[in-house]
Amino acid sequence: MALKSFISTAKRVTDVRTFLKDSAKGNSIKYTSEQNKRDVLYVPMIKQQVTDENGNTVEVNSIISIEADIHEWRDSSNNSFHGCVCMKNVVRTDDDGNTINDGTCPFCDRVNDSWAIYNYRKNIEEANCKLTGDDRDKFLKEKGSSFRDEMKIKAAKPYMYILVAKFRTEGNQFVLDDSGMPEYDLKVWKVSASRAQALYDIPHNTGLELPGCTLVIKYPDEANVMQRAGHATITATNQPTIAPTAKYPALADKINAEAAKFDWEGISKAFPEFEGMSTAQAKKIMDNSFEQWDSYQKELEVNKDAKYLEYVVEPVKTAPSTVTPALGAVPVPNIPNVGQAANVQMPGQGVQPTVQQAVPQQAAPQQAAPQQAAPQQAAPQQSNPFANMAPTLNL
Ligand SMILES: [Zn+2]
Repeated sequence: MALKSFISTAKRVTDVRTFLKDSAKGNSIKYTSEQNKRDVLYVPMIKQQVTDENGNTVEVNSIISIEADIHEWRDSSNNSFHGCVCMKNVVRTDDDGNTINDGTCPFCDRVNDSWAIYNYRKNIEEANCKLTGDDRDKFLKEKGSSFRDEMKIKAAKPYMYILVAKFRTEGNQFVLDDSGMPEYDLKVWKVSASRAQALYDIPHNTGLELPGCTLVIKYPDEANVMQRAGHATITATNQPTIAPTAKYPALADKINAEAAKFDWEGISKAFPEFEGMSTAQAKKIMDNSFEQWDSYQKELEVNKDAKYLEYVVEPVKTAPSTVTPALGAVPVPNIPNVGQAANVQMPGQGVQPTVQQAVPQQAAPQQAAPQQAAPQQAAPQQSNPFANMAPTLNL
């Protein structure tokens, strides 16, 4: 069954029609940062008719972007993290009239369970932690943070996907085409709500607006993608010495004309969160993921002492007394091997004889934690980048 791209669920900000000539090269369309690199981006704009507060039709400049609410979910079979557009209120049928999406979102439906697991794990840590004072606070904070990263599903968060033109550079020089103008590639930049706010504020603070302005982004020499993005500095400018479109107005026209034809259907190759998923598929993923939690809930009805053991590594019987409390790995002594205990699965988890309680997903922290990307926005020209969300971006 061929699923139509989920891009149809995203709110279109602009009127875009024709096909992207390069859509086959899906990944090339994704804007990504590079270590210790300075990027110069032009933000293409189109004219849009809107009605102002007096009821008059006025023309405004608009960026070319879409926005969507994205869930992050964890595949426990291989500890990988994925994104998916929230399915709430999405109703789709296939060509034969069979329901693909019924308007419910199985991901949303499991967010509370995901938090319940987080709280369960955190409560065990708090009960077992023998540390005191600052050591205790620090230990529990770190545990809480990693439990949050490992949540099976997170509430959907809004993201914007903004079309930008990235100028090609060699060293500190722009690469020029035959006519002597800088060459560029159209890219789609995925930004969180807080970064969208920064992108709104930074041009405004220098008397510019985002549509049609040039952004100079300097990334630090930092290997971690999240850290790199969080510590980048962004400057908005239209000075001809820096901004190619200010030096060559014909270049701005050319980019804007090409950008206006951009077709978003191709971006699911670069942003898999827009790949189709049926309600049934999503429910299956979630039910598998929460299988042990659901069993625990059932067991609780008949046994108030039931335990949830998904994240507990069973001690290896031949090495009973090698627990190393100094590592802060607190054993869970009160969990007997009853009920489902014998069936506990530890997907992707090697046996760790010296630690009774382990965290199977610690291998993948950088991929998780989308919320860690946003808080340290480098927005040098502003005091409070988040004070005023950017509804004006969503024209
Ligand atoms: Zn949802």
